[in-house]
Amino acid sequence: MIVCVAYFCFSLQSAFVEYFCLTDSHEIGASCHGLKCGETTVVVDSGLHPKMTGYEAMPPHDQLDGQNVQSIVLTHSHLDHVGTIPVLQGRFPQSRVYMTAPTHDLADAMLHNSVNVMTSQSNELDIQEYPLFTHDMVEECASKWVARGYNRKFDVDGDVQIKFQDAGHIMGSCTATVFHEGKKVLFTGDVQTEDQTLIKGADIWKEGDYDAIVMETTRGASPRPEGFTRQGEEERLAKAICAGLEAGGAILIPVFAMGKTQEVLTMINQFKAVGMVPDVPVHVGGLSTKMTTIYDRHATRTRRKAPRFKILRDMKLKVARKGRSTPLEPRAGEIYCLSSGMMSEKTVSNLFARQFIDKPQNALLFVGYADPDSPAGKIRAASSGDMIELDSNGTKVALECAVDVFDFSGHAPREDILEIAIGSGAKKIFLTHGDTDAREWFREELSKAMPNSEIIVPESGEAYEI
Ligand SMILES: [Zn+2]
Ligand SMILES: [Zn+2]
Repeated sequence: MIVCVAYFCFSLQSAFVEYFCLTDSHEIGASCHGLKCGETTVVVDSGLHPKMTGYEAMPPHDQLDGQNVQSIVLTHSHLDHVGTIPVLQGRFPQSRVYMTAPTHDLADAMLHNSVNVMTSQSNELDIQEYPLFTHDMVEECASKWVARGYNRKFDVDGDVQIKFQDAGHIMGSCTATVFHEGKKVLFTGDVQTEDQTLIKGADIWKEGDYDAIVMETTRGASPRPEGFTRQGEEERLAKAICAGLEAGGAILIPVFAMGKTQEVLTMINQFKAVGMVPDVPVHVGGLSTKMTTIYDRHATRTRRKAPRFKILRDMKLKVARKGRSTPLEPRAGEIYCLSSGMMSEKTVSNLFARQFIDKPQNALLFVGYADPDSPAGKIRAASSGDMIELDSNGTKVALECAVDVFDFSGHAPREDILEIAIGSGAKKIFLTHGDTDAREWFREELSKAMPNSEIIVPESGEAYEI
């Protein structure tokens, strides 16, 4: 009898799974999640808040104090998911960090770039705690990273298995399913279900019976416009490029260095191949060039529509050299895909805009998200003739060029995510990575569709038993 009780207690203890959210804000903040599996804790992502600086931009890692963190998972290489990974590794130096091979290379490059950005912010904005880590620390951390492929369960510490599946968001992105003692918990990371121009849509959701899903809700507040198709949007972009070229101007497409740059370049290549856009020079610059090199390196080993297509080799791009003494100047009849996507201060697209947006023959085409407070957000909200403040020194330029906005999101439409969540049969669904109204839409819809499941907007600092 004594033996039975002891066994029963042991079983209860080892099957114990608890989720806790380490993201402090109800928006797209610094992604970070914990899953306590018996005696060990798996951490999924450790990002940097895109709109905050200093310690405020970090997840509350101190909530992990006293826990046995041996395994860390990175879903993809955007900074809101990996931006504080060296700090977390510093706290748990024995831990191993698992990710896909493309994420390994992209995250490494992103973190080195982040050291440079934080160092200049430290000097200019007097942020004492920046940089949060150094180039040497990134190198040391990356030496402990372990690459794993899609669709194969692998063992990590403490009787825990993990499986990655392709999330279709950017190259190397994955969802992560964590298995422990019969329990199964899915972390979606950022996910795109539909094919993009280069990267294929997510390759997941073939199995149900999840105990819990921790899911992104990015587009929860955005219904898809009637009749929207990606192909239609691509055709609209091709027409806008042609219109700008015919007006005798240049085209500026501000792009995020990783993901959006490579998607847009692939689109332009296809437009040219079928004569939708004339064969004019295309320029890239900033961090985009480095990221495109990594995309090309993994071309044949990742799920994409054109595996043999190598962007830098096949498009004969004009690459703006790093460290040039004078800013790149717009030339009529040419296309410029420059980072950053939000035209943030000191980036190539921001410096370029100073001599670009005041010319009525030019066309400025936005292809991704822009925070309303960023220079790109201000331009999108402005009217023709308005003075645009491009930096904190008060540089103002009149907006005279044509402006248009296109939807090439790397996030799945909300209806697709809803369907996935319902199909999963999960007993608990945690709504993360979205603004309050986006989470609220999912909470309402899922509560109606899954009356026997708990739909939870997790609070930082709370633990939820699975
Ligand atoms: Zn992302
Ligand atoms: Zn994200």
